[in-house]
Amino acid sequence: MLVSSVVGGVNLSQCKSKKSLLHQGVVSNSIPLLARNGYTKCVKKSQKVSDSIRPSSFVFTSKQQPKNLKAATEVIPTSTQIVHTEWRINKFGGTCMSTADRIRAAAELMLKEKGPNCVVLSAMGSHPTSRVKVTDLILNMIKKASLQDANFLINLAELQEKHVDTAKQLLGPTPELTKFVSLLMDDISNLKAMLQAMSIAGMSNESFSDFVVGHGELWSARLFYLLCKQQGADVAFMDTRDVLVVTPTSDGTSVDLNEEVSKKKLQEWTELNGKRKLIVATGFIAKNTLGQATTLRRNGSDFSATILGALFRSQHITIWTDVDGVFSADPRKVPEAVCLPSLTYHEAWELSYFGANVLHPRTTLPAMKYQIPITIRNFFNQEAPGTRVSDVGSDADYYRSKVTVKGFATIDDVTLISVEGTGMVGVPGIASSIFSAVRDAGVNVIMISQASSEQSICFAVNKHDGDVAVQVLEEKFASSIAAGRVSAIEAIRHCCVLAAVGQGMVAHKGVAATMMSALAKANVNIKAIAQGSSEYNITVLIDQADSERSLQAVHSRFYLSDVPIGVGIVGPGLIGGTLIRQLKEQREQLKREFNIDLRLLGIASSKKMLLCETGVNLDTWKEDFETNSVPCDLEKFGEYLANHYIPNRAIVDCTASDAPAQKYASWMEKGIHIVTPNKKMGSGPLDQYRAVRKLQREGYIHFFYEGTVGAGLPVLGTLKHLVETGDKIIKVEGILSGTLSYIFNTFGDGRPFSEIVKDAKAKGYTEPDPRDDLNGTDVARKVCILARESGLMLELNDVPVQSLVPEPLRAVASADEYMKRIPDFDAEMDKKLKEADAAGECLRFVGVVDVSNGKGSVELRRYPKSHPFAQLQGSDNILSFTTQRYFKQPLIIRGPGAGADVTAAGVFSDLLRLAAYLGAPS
Ligand code: ADP
Ligand code: ASP
Ligand code: MG
Repeated sequence: MLVSSVVGGVNLSQCKSKKSLLHQGVVSNSIPLLARNGYTKCVKKSQKVSDSIRPSSFVFTSKQQPKNLKAATEVIPTSTQIVHTEWRINKFGGTCMSTADRIRAAAELMLKEKGPNCVVLSAMGSHPTSRVKVTDLILNMIKKASLQDANFLINLAELQEKHVDTAKQLLGPTPELTKFVSLLMDDISNLKAMLQAMSIAGMSNESFSDFVVGHGELWSARLFYLLCKQQGADVAFMDTRDVLVVTPTSDGTSVDLNEEVSKKKLQEWTELNGKRKLIVATGFIAKNTLGQATTLRRNGSDFSATILGALFRSQHITIWTDVDGVFSADPRKVPEAVCLPSLTYHEAWELSYFGANVLHPRTTLPAMKYQIPITIRNFFNQEAPGTRVSDVGSDADYYRSKVTVKGFATIDDVTLISVEGTGMVGVPGIASSIFSAVRDAGVNVIMISQASSEQSICFAVNKHDGDVAVQVLEEKFASSIAAGRVSAIEAIRHCCVLAAVGQGMVAHKGVAATMMSALAKANVNIKAIAQGSSEYNITVLIDQADSERSLQAVHSRFYLSDVPIGVGIVGPGLIGGTLIRQLKEQREQLKREFNIDLRLLGIASSKKMLLCETGVNLDTWKEDFETNSVPCDLEKFGEYLANHYIPNRAIVDCTASDAPAQKYASWMEKGIHIVTPNKKMGSGPLDQYRAVRKLQREGYIHFFYEGTVGAGLPVLGTLKHLVETGDKIIKVEGILSGTLSYIFNTFGDGRPFSEIVKDAKAKGYTEPDPRDDLNGTDVARKVCILARESGLMLELNDVPVQSLVPEPLRAVASADEYMKRIPDFDAEMDKKLKEADAAGECLRFVGVVDVSNGKGSVELRRYPKSHPFAQLQGSDNILSFTTQRYFKQPLIIRGPGAGADVTAAGVFSDLLRLAAYLGAPS
């Protein structure tokens, strides 16, 4: 047998030395990889890895890229050779068979059909009032019996009751009901005997269990058949155990169809049952070559449908379920997922293999062989056209289309096995030994990745197979371990495989890089990477805990190209409240025009917090915050955001307090970006500041604090840009306080200094206690921030401050008393003003960063009346940057530098900058 094992969609026979994009170095080095630059390792044809999911009829041997599975070299009839019959297949999943009403609606749909139809049915599924699926219930019952738990009898009674009830509703008091109930009771008494035998023996075997579990399909199909018969349809019942013969794959996780035998059996069945317009067939069940009942494994009714489609050479297969079609990701995990209008067979196969459980993984194979289109449709929304799976026109579509990745899926709960050792380098046959040992133990390999250094091979297996895999490898490599050639065989548990699937990836560069950067930005650590040499999929192995978030992150990056950011605001006061208003005003436009989706997920004040998983209502947030909040716990606030499914999360600290600032590092470690106008971190202890900057540099986590200096003015952004483009900062000097700007711009109009302070306070320009402005500390903090951004690592204490609060008034208890006594010092200020005036100068309170001399200061300086600082009006801020480039004429930034609106706007622009860093279009 030719074995071209498709492992995790990886076609091993093609990959001689074909390295993936990853190996070509498109992945950023800063992504922590266990198998960095890993590529899918070739395994020789003789090295059978696992054939459990290998499409038995399709073997690629060409090194050339098969554009679709038609390029496979096994003799497959071309579409011109295939003669399709009039038969159509309609499969109704458990979702459509869960109540009498639904079964009736499905039957009505089929009775309306004109041409011949074969209906394939699943066992009754769950619905809102009965969450239990019949197949799950039966499996649970078998387990109980084999564990000698007598409650299996309760399950059996439940099954009986559920089917009798449904039959009564569907068939009414008719001979059909009598027939159904009598057959059901026969089955129930047989099952009871079998289960009792299992219970006595304290065990069950696969044959028994397969026989028992298939009853769900038998009963649902019988019900459907009797209902159609009662309605006068020309209908026959097909127990597919009389027709389908299958062989289990070596690891037992799937089955292969014995096509010739099954075809013959179908002919015999047709001869016996005559030509009918409608055939009602059981999904899921078949027989093995020994004539024993077996199943096509979980979700196997989809596979039954396409097998029957192939045997009938049917013209079309419809799979009815409870979603509009195949989505770009599991809609339960990614609410933004979109329904895909079309998929190629190969894409559908890869997506289902990688966990999109809307289809059984092998479903597409029989349909692909005979080029039968499959449509997945929503039984509950029949208006929707569904997803068409075929190959028709797909190549052209893809090359025209910009959609490189069609969909994403995850296989949850896998274990990564890593075999490492320097002794593996350049030794032929290592991979072969590993995988043959694993194969012999019946372990199915989901994905493989090998570091290009050949020092390690890692592969993912189902969590139940992890221990066995390690054990067989330890036995196999005992001598290599003893000799130190193999240093470790390790099982890393609680992992998840995330796959991106799409035929369009073939023609596009950088898909892997984009995927990896989306994951890095969502702070997801990648443990291993593999790309199928067919380039139809890229798979990464990540922590199980990151599963949903990663799915969201890559989905939004590729599919919607939306950048969702979940925002938590700390401090819903003046600035925070204004920011929420601005978010509300801009939200729709940002989404529409820039693909930025900002969602407010939580608000915290010092006392309480409001958390809303789906997003705080921006119209009613104030009331909601008052009434629905819980006591504030900043630790929990961070945890909540860190665990939120939105891949990018940011906390906006709109306070001026230490408490939130002290949490930045731990929030950033959790993958949360920080945006703030709070100066406490930027000017706080240097070690804390450095720790935050380090986290930012190393972790793709951003810390933006433009709002701390000059409010909404582009001060820090400009400075950063100058430094990053190689300019040398010599001096930064500026009027950095809106309050002090106003006071000195006004001082000189003839009024004494104390009057001007009173005026500023009355206009709301000052803090409640004006000393908080006049003592210069706030300006010193800004100087400290500017110094650090310029590369001068100053502590706040290193910045000498000339306080404008006279010595005797510093200790005065209240603001009122200070205001009362301030006129006593007017003469002093007046003298300074007069002296300056006499020299043709004016007074300005400035912050200075003298980078050349390594100093910062805050002081009252005199400037010529022609100086830009002298021209300032109102409460504007002004900054002058003297740099190597801007030497003769400094670079000046001037504009409103205080007030809630401009400060919130500064914070908002940081949020947009964050979105741009996270991939929003610029
Ligand atoms: P049925 O009983 O009809 O066979 P299933 O439960 O087996 O239904 O499959 C349908 C379910 O598959 C959907 O309800 C959906 O939640 C889930 N699903 C997972 N991944 C996808 C996907 N990519 N597209 C659509 N549905 C998906
Ligand atoms: N009833 C079976 C299962 O639940 C098969 C199917 O519904 O596809 O696995
Ligand atoms: Mg299903």
